[in-house]
Amino acid sequence: MDSQAKHSRRKVIKIGVTALAIAPLAGLSGRAFATQNTAVRTALKFQDHPNGEKNCKVCVNFIPNKDKVNNDEAVNGCKLYPGDTEICTHCYCTGFVQNAAATKAGASFSPWAAPAK
Ligand code: SF4
Repeated sequence: MDSQAKHSRRKVIKIGVTALAIAPLAGLSGRAFATQNTAVRTALKFQDHPNGEKNCKVCVNFIPNKDKVNNDEAVNGCKLYPGDTEICTHCYCTGFVQNAAATKAGASFSPWAAPAK
């Protein structure tokens, strides 16, 4: 094996090791940024304000962000929006289904206090 071939092989190994070292960081940065599922948002006519008394906070599909209890920000999820992490409690879409527990509890209802299903 000549020195140029050895050098080339070393370079390939170095690139592979670098890629392996960076891979976990790429995963972290993907989680650090919020994302929107624009296809589902369009299909279900997502809006950033309620429709009368109907809003994400009292919808059975709402997935509250456990790291931000009682927030009213666009940092939550929804069962109908895979990968979307920007659902707010006061948002609304045509996928809305009233949460029976919210109806029963009234104004004191908190999706963070409700048992996970
Ligand atoms: S289905 Fe629509 S209204 Fe219900 S939580 Fe998801 S985005 Fe909000």
